[in-house]
Amino acid sequence: MNKNQCIELEQISVSGDSVVYDFSYPEELSNIFNYSKIEIEYSTDISDIDESLLSIPFIGNVVPMAWGYNIEVNVPSIDRRFANDITAVKDALDSLYSKACFDSNQNLIHSDSVVDNHMPEGEFKSAQLFTGGLDSVSTYLRHRHESPALITIDASKGQRNDSEFAKTQSRIREFGEEEGLKCEFIRTNTYYLLNHSELENAYEDAAYYTWWENFQLGLSYLSTCAPLAMSEGYNIIRIASTFTEEYNHPYGSHPAIDNNICFGETQCLHDSFDLSRQQKWRITTDYFEHKDKTLFVQSCTEEGNCCNCLQCARNIVGISVEGLDPDDYGYEVSGGWFDDCKLKFKSNEWRLNRIEHFFWKDIQNSIPENLDKGNYKSGAVDFLEWLRAADLNQYTE
Ligand SMILES: [Zn+2]
Repeated sequence: MNKNQCIELEQISVSGDSVVYDFSYPEELSNIFNYSKIEIEYSTDISDIDESLLSIPFIGNVVPMAWGYNIEVNVPSIDRRFANDITAVKDALDSLYSKACFDSNQNLIHSDSVVDNHMPEGEFKSAQLFTGGLDSVSTYLRHRHESPALITIDASKGQRNDSEFAKTQSRIREFGEEEGLKCEFIRTNTYYLLNHSELENAYEDAAYYTWWENFQLGLSYLSTCAPLAMSEGYNIIRIASTFTEEYNHPYGSHPAIDNNICFGETQCLHDSFDLSRQQKWRITTDYFEHKDKTLFVQSCTEEGNCCNCLQCARNIVGISVEGLDPDDYGYEVSGGWFDDCKLKFKSNEWRLNRIEHFFWKDIQNSIPENLDKGNYKSGAVDFLEWLRAADLNQYTE
């Protein structure tokens, strides 16, 4: 293979809990790559991990783009299970995004060394990606009996300010301590590795969201966990679903993608594709209503939930549908909030895109017939009655 025509992993430098990847790429991709170095910091020592597993985060973050441009990715060594199953990930993207033309019949990943990796004998251990949002909290509750480790990834290292991430860490540590769970934190610069706007222009006809959300999300996050999974012996890593099968559009984290990511003896799993968002609220509120402590459900900023944006409103209304007080879940809903919310819809200040339309339809369909029992905030019952009768298409882009 001509080195100048492939994306080549030149060097992996490991030190304690950090790894740096230096790579080269063909001249024709110079407008796509923002830099030629990936950095990852784990909260666990990964210095003993085999190069065939260390190369996985690099591959996972460059290969969707390489498939799109039909360019080979060359690494010195690769894990056998990852190498075998990644072809199915490419096929999944190809089938989800038929206009993207990921149509090469090879997976385009080349390595002279393919290695079988085994974990030392030990008890079954699971882990999951965790943000503290509704999806990941409800995934935790479904698998609570396994005491999964919580893995939080900040993929914006170098761009995001450290104190913001420190706030996220302390919020998640508090949750982990309360539930008796190990917390793992990963910081990396992979989110800004590629020039998204350039890629979004190139794939404008093929995809609806950003490049990251369409093509990279699940593969990037899960592949970044590979060295950690071996170091800590995680047999399973779950990623919480955003959507259900009823959401009839492609997205970059999907069972067909995530369930085909595996490495060493670790299997990744897309979790709760069978649960609507409102069903996730039911699982979450059932659990936390029986605990003394309130739960902070993250929906917008690190500083706390603003309670003024559509994402916060979606959660405040979702909790209200369950007849519960949103103030117990990280929101501050004062008198007049529900009237303001209705006004934002009616005045077109808020317009639903197709993702929000999907979620608000689920909320609408879940409003109970009887709104006379429950701990409703002032204005909530009137609002829910209005929402039940509303034509959401009128508020949709
Ligand atoms: Zn907000």
